[in-house]
Amino acid sequence: MAFECPYCANLSIELLVDLAKTELSGLFFPQKAFYRHQPSLGALEEAATKGCSLCSLVVEYLKSSRDHVNQWPYYTDATQLPSTDVKIALNSSHIRINEQLEKVQVFDTLMVHIGPWEDIGEEATEEELDAFYARLPTLEFNIVNLLG
Ligand SMILES: [Zn+2]
Repeated sequence: MAFECPYCANLSIELLVDLAKTELSGLFFPQKAFYRHQPSLGALEEAATKGCSLCSLVVEYLKSSRDHVNQWPYYTDATQLPSTDVKIALNSSHIRINEQLEKVQVFDTLMVHIGPWEDIGEEATEEELDAFYARLPTLEFNIVNLLG
């Protein structure tokens, strides 16, 4: 059997659905109810190198997608972050900003966020603002029913 890292092995759709029922804030990555995945980009890459498929998928995404500002791969941006822990949550592609759980018909989006993601307050300092704009966007993987 192919290698699966412990973080991916312990991940299940049921667990993610339970988390989404606890906190779902339409289209945004949740502040608290998410799955704690790999502790760092280095650990994620190590698991990918060993053959973990979800870890590999996330690393591939980071290396092949570029940010709109300086056209660097997200991977390069990630290496500049003060922390690079990996967080995972479920979401739905058909809900809108601020819509809640009762609007969800199907959970079909796996959200992956790497590093800092907290919102900042209105009184944010310049340093906090710089850190906020340096955050990585949340990566979204749409779950497609391959069995049709
Ligand atoms: Zn993994």
